[in-house]
Amino acid sequence: MPGKPKVLIADDEPGNRELLLTMCEGMGLDAVTVVDGREAVERLEMESFDLVVTDLHMPYRNGDEVARATRRLRPHAKVLVLSASWTEEERARASEIPCDAFMSKPFEVPEVLDTVRRFLKLES
Ligand SMILES: [Mg+2]
Repeated sequence: MPGKPKVLIADDEPGNRELLLTMCEGMGLDAVTVVDGREAVERLEMESFDLVVTDLHMPYRNGDEVARATRRLRPHAKVLVLSASWTEEERARASEIPCDAFMSKPFEVPEVLDTVRRFLKLES
């Protein structure tokens, strides 16, 4: 029996981490959370993930850097970037972030669930 898909959740807001973790676990995924971008990159160096869900604004390293590290270290992994505030400049640059999808926060739970299921090819 194949293992559960692995998800890395990176967000500096505890409430968001908890919500995303609960959602992933509800889908039967093996999810781990980290509190900032530096920890996310360290984790990506150590182990493989199938999906990375990252906040854009975090201490030490932002979601853009986490997305780039994912592409470099775990090229098969899907990347979903979430952000509460997009500045004009970030909106303009968003297309340069190497991610598979980005969404604004507060995110719509069903939209995130659908996206995760699609990325991981899960039965809905
Ligand atoms: Mg943040």
